[in-house]
Amino acid sequence: MTAGKIVAVMLTACVALILSHPATLAQATDRHAVHRFANVVDLTHALDEYTPYIPVPGLTFPFKKTPIATVVKNGVAANRWEIHEHLGTQIDAPIHFFEGALSLDQLPVASLVVPLAVIDISARVASHPDTSVTVADIEAWERQHGRIPERAAVMMRSGWDSRIDDARAFVNADAGGVMHFPGFSPEAASFLARSRQAAGIGVDTLSLDRGDDATYATHKAWLGTGNWGAELVANLQHVPPVGATVFVGATKVKGATGGPVRLIAVW
Ligand SMILES: [Zn+2]
Repeated sequence: MTAGKIVAVMLTACVALILSHPATLAQATDRHAVHRFANVVDLTHALDEYTPYIPVPGLTFPFKKTPIATVVKNGVAANRWEIHEHLGTQIDAPIHFFEGALSLDQLPVASLVVPLAVIDISARVASHPDTSVTVADIEAWERQHGRIPERAAVMMRSGWDSRIDDARAFVNADAGGVMHFPGFSPEAASFLARSRQAAGIGVDTLSLDRGDDATYATHKAWLGTGNWGAELVANLQHVPPVGATVFVGATKVKGATGGPVRLIAVW
């Protein structure tokens, strides 16, 4: 048998083997298959000059977008953005409260694609904005939906995003300048980090803390565990309490304490 004939026989044998094993063929085509999700929900508010933010005199300011080039004048369009790191739907890195802790670019990428758990306290918030997600809320959630998945993003749905087009109502400051909106209790944040190994927490309000806590107790309890927090999350009423995965598209600026984030839930 010549070398050419041997090759031909081997090729024929291979083809016969593949044809007799449909699984082999399926595996080969699977590598080219694209995974599509039945549901894709944007958990991000569009950012503009009216987007609410925590007013800190002399420090914070509204978002501003100014054209630096236009198609008519320059043949290409581009804008300058004026922004601070904690504006709009955004993420906090541990360095936001702890010098030398992880900055935004240093967050492990595996912590940015995680199971999503949504805790709904909106019924209570409607009559009592100075409330928090508590350990008891988490335990009640688990009795209904099972244990919070490991390395999950746990988000508070308070219904607050219905105020998004009214910055004054969103900040909800009283005559003395004290803000009133819900957040996570520091104890719940510590519990999620230490007993449930959560990767992130998120709120549909302006802060991980309750609006009336000027000590940032929850920020410190949570970011001190080396994990991320997301604020001004949108559309949590459109995702299931458990079963979705959230993609946390955090901006990657070196040394950043936080920044705009595109949050997308899929399931
Ligand atoms: Zn924050």
